[in-house]
Amino acid sequence: MLNGRQPPLPVTRRPGSAPRHLADLTVEERRTAVVELGQPAYRAEQLSRHYFARLTDDPAAMTDVPSRTRAQLAAALLPPLLTPVRHLSADGGTTRKTLWRGVDGTLVESVLMRYPDRTTVCVSSQAGCGIGCPFCATGQAGLTRNLSTAEIVEQVVAGARAMDRGEIAAGHGRLSNVVFMGMGEPLANYNAVLGAVRRLTDPTPAGLGLSQRSVTVSTVGLVPAIRRLTVENLQVTLAVSLHAPDDELRNTLVPVNRRWPVAEVLESAWEYAGRTGRRVSIEYALIRDVNDDADRAHQLGQLLRGHLVHVNLIPLNPTPGSDWTASRSADEAEFVRILRSHGVATTVRDTRGREIDGACGQLAAVGA
Ligand code: SAH
Ligand code: SF4
Repeated sequence: MLNGRQPPLPVTRRPGSAPRHLADLTVEERRTAVVELGQPAYRAEQLSRHYFARLTDDPAAMTDVPSRTRAQLAAALLPPLLTPVRHLSADGGTTRKTLWRGVDGTLVESVLMRYPDRTTVCVSSQAGCGIGCPFCATGQAGLTRNLSTAEIVEQVVAGARAMDRGEIAAGHGRLSNVVFMGMGEPLANYNAVLGAVRRLTDPTPAGLGLSQRSVTVSTVGLVPAIRRLTVENLQVTLAVSLHAPDDELRNTLVPVNRRWPVAEVLESAWEYAGRTGRRVSIEYALIRDVNDDADRAHQLGQLLRGHLVHVNLIPLNPTPGSDWTASRSADEAEFVRILRSHGVATTVRDTRGREIDGACGQLAAVGA
């Protein structure tokens, strides 16, 4: 628990917006901001190096900047945006969920997951979510507000720092992957999310220097935004949350399906794959006796076969207020078998962090 330092309890205020931060700005904008503060432009690169390469925002550590200037620059460009309220660990300390409080009292969560070959942080892009999928805890309370680019980047920098400082079981390591699968619909906060993707993948010290291919943006299927992403000239992985191959069922599981039905969503996914050469991930939460029958497996297989695609089946994680539960293991195995029989690459996602409500769809950021 944060080395015994208890942060103050969350204050409830009207949601506001986050103050400006270095991570909101492009390299050019950082130089301009520093000059406006009466400092030489090269200070922008010094600050960027501290934040993105050394993973620190502590002015005391910035010994290459005169001490008077440090405090001024840090106050103007590195304001604290997210304060950890609590950490919860699971899986022998290799999974850690953090509840964060924004400056306006807004609560969000992120989850760090260490695997033998990679370490992934699952970040939130919005506080809450306005889409309202009935099986997802985040969707139940609606949308509080969009996160800023820097608030998203901060969740990743915090994960990178925790790995670098050896705070996660198995010792020092490096953060390698980012998935936009925490709270919120990333493509409903398009500009902030794109800014974050650029900051995360720009080479250091402009950004964190992660590979574009190790960043996954998961969407419920906002077709115009998928089309926009397609022409950004990025190599990020697109994940589309489908959950049903037919509009009748998908209308009930993913309410925006009434606006952008299955055929249109898949059409835009294939355009993304065609333009980027990246294999699209189809997310499908398996819900017992709802969407896990053999007919739907065949229907899905027929829709996807022959495309640059991979299916990620997610055993449904329980959420408060919903009676739905994960499929029987025999039904899950049969679903996998049928998809593979259509030649569709299929895997079943692990349920990391389930007992700390840190698995897919369980993030609700309930205060202490
Ligand atoms: N809003 C985006 C990203 C966040 S949700 C989206 O929906 O894609 C990340 C993934 O978790 C999505 O695939 C979502 O469908 C899935 N999910 C939500 N609730 C879940 C639950 N209770 N069990 C399993 N997966 C769930
Ligand atoms: Fe929002 Fe995704 Fe949850 Fe649906 S599954 S309510 S889109 S976060």
